[in-house]
Amino acid sequence: MMKKVALLAALLALACVCEGVTFGQLCEGNPNNNRRTSDSFGSGHFGASRNGRSHQGLDIICDDGSVVYAPFDVTLNGRLTVYTDPTKAAINSGINLEGEGLCVKLFYVNPDQTSGRVSKGQRLGVMMPMQSVYPGITSHVHVQMCDRSDPTKYF
Ligand SMILES: [Zn+2]
Repeated sequence: MMKKVALLAALLALACVCEGVTFGQLCEGNPNNNRRTSDSFGSGHFGASRNGRSHQGLDIICDDGSVVYAPFDVTLNGRLTVYTDPTKAAINSGINLEGEGLCVKLFYVNPDQTSGRVSKGQRLGVMMPMQSVYPGITSHVHVQMCDRSDPTKYF
């Protein structure tokens, strides 16, 4: 009986490890993780309309060329490719990462490295030149959970 209780407690602890997690500063120049609101290309909130589809992430304001930081202690799980469209090649990269029980994709970041660990607040890479692809947009890092759930509660 005690073993079952201990096991249950351990499972609950594992299940809840991501509760209460808050992203630290993601982008240089945006210490409060201010979100993209609305611009001529759309809105930055989770579930916003995208040409009949639904926006699967949350957009955090980040000027082109800004340094992007690890939002918590992370393990890097490789580069990701955002688009297949060659006209968007300038902003085609991102990084897969995990930490604090979360699995996260960051779009439009040119990563310094694609494996290993990075501590909270240390440099992950650089915001790609979004204005060159979407002139006038609010440049941003797109934060998407690997399971496509809503990341807003972590901000
Ligand atoms: Zn987005």
